Amino acid sequence: MDYHIYQEIPTSQYIQIKLSLECTDRERITLQLPAWRPGRYELANYAQKIRRVVISTAEKTIPLKKITKDKWEFHSEKAGTYTVSYEYYCNQLDAGGCWSDTEMLYLNFSNLAFSVSNREKEEISLQLHLPDAYQVATSLQKLSKHRFKADNHQQLIDSPLIASPDLQHFTYHVGKTTFHLWFQGEIHFNITALIDTFRSFTVRQIAAFTDFPAKDYHFLFHLLPYTHYHGVEHQFSTVITYGPAESLANEEKLAELISVSSHELYHFWNVCRIRPSALLPYDLSREAYLREGVVAEGVTTYLGDMYLLRAGYYTMQQYLDILAQKINRETMSHGWQYQSIVDSSFDLWLDGYKAGIPDRKVSIYNRGALISLCLDLLLMDRNSSLEDVMRCMWMRYGRDQKGYLLEDFQRVVTECAKDPETMEDFFRRFVFGTEDLLPRIEQTLKSVNIYLRKDDNQDPMEEAYGIQLDDSQKIIRLHPDSPAYRSLILGDTIESVENKATSVKLGIKRVHRKKQVSIPTTNREYFIKYKLISEGAENDKRAKWIQ
Ligand SMILES: [Zn+2]
Repeated sequence: MDYHIYQEIPTSQYIQIKLSLECTDRERITLQLPAWRPGRYELANYAQKIRRVVISTAEKTIPLKKITKDKWEFHSEKAGTYTVSYEYYCNQLDAGGCWSDTEMLYLNFSNLAFSVSNREKEEISLQLHLPDAYQVATSLQKLSKHRFKADNHQQLIDSPLIASPDLQHFTYHVGKTTFHLWFQGEIHFNITALIDTFRSFTVRQIAAFTDFPAKDYHFLFHLLPYTHYHGVEHQFSTVITYGPAESLANEEKLAELISVSSHELYHFWNVCRIRPSALLPYDLSREAYLREGVVAEGVTTYLGDMYLLRAGYYTMQQYLDILAQKINRETMSHGWQYQSIVDSSFDLWLDGYKAGIPDRKVSIYNRGALISLCLDLLLMDRNSSLEDVMRCMWMRYGRDQKGYLLEDFQRVVTECAKDPETMEDFFRRFVFGTEDLLPRIEQTLKSVNIYLRKDDNQDPMEEAYGIQLDDSQKIIRLHPDSPAYRSLILGDTIESVENKATSVKLGIKRVHRKKQVSIPTTNREYFIKYKLISEGAENDKRAKWIQ
């Protein structure tokens, strides 16, 4: 199969695609466009972004029939070359989309490449018709300046590219692998220092898994002028979008970019190779239900940051501040009372990437990371660690890309801990169950001399009344145990506040009606912000945890 891609009018954001297929005599061929993309488990229905699909031979146009919202079929009349021509609209500049303008062409083939019947294993060549000055950042095999090759369809959809005359390229080496850093956008930080940090977390992660089976790995960065934060993992690359680019002059913001980079590199093993069975291979035509979100994103979020502590990039207090943010996010929602992380993983297709209705679900990232922390420290009490577990997952399921189920992960954890009863109890309560994680986190962290304390800065409305407001005084969250929950509605705007002896009187606007509401003061606290502090001497467990 051979793709030719043209950017006739870059600012129209339509690109022209010609896909040539060799067909046999009277063959029925189906063309399936992706409905979602790897790394984001929700339907994107990319077919809404293509227009005018035409099949032709050198002599004529061939009839084409649409059989579902994103699937077409045609019949060849005789053996020969058939060309599928279509246009794709590239207007989504995030880590998983496509973008066209006068400065670049950015493609994720998981958005726009057809899966062609009976040709899953066929080699695919790609010719980009772009100005000479354009460089191309991609993990696809380069045949000539703008010509590339993928071994098969799965590789093509897992190999994004950025083409631009403005790309900046840097490399570093670890073992036999060359790591490429490609930047599209302005660099406002010290690149030498950044590369040192990347090298240190790369070394640490490779040591954890023992090997990194790739000759090259590419970090593709879009540094954008507006606020943005997104990363997507691939087999031999990652795309990371971050903005505003100037903010990266600030160390705290740069730490966010480094954190997402460490997270995405960890996905090289966990998800891209240690892959839930439901995702092997990627069938982008329909939902792939997975229950392994706690492993795929929870473990990655936890260890991605942990390796920055272990590599010496974060200080302990910096790491604890990040961890405290996760704890605060966890305690602000009561979704954990209603849905386990396993069920929230399954439901990603429903509302995994939006706020959704209140207190319905948990985040596989946030709660997943906190579960991973507790699991890691529990394993350390049993002479093992989450790192040992993931190395075993790598050997057993990752290297040969066998696919695993949540039960396989639990089995590996149990084997590493050599304590089936404790591990069974942990999984039952926190992974399959809906138990409050906060007391467990508090108790677990004490074992490494880290203490959960009430933060000095509390929001009085959140703490005393269980009401969280946004900047425009609109109510965005209500504590279900608070009296406020019984008289206020999400979306009400507070216009006046009058503190009384035993209550607070609120003037609110609800839709277009104004109301006065009195909320009694109680003797309990509702939303509380926590901080973590490190106290007391190092102990052996803690030394092992951060080494
Ligand atoms: Zn991730």
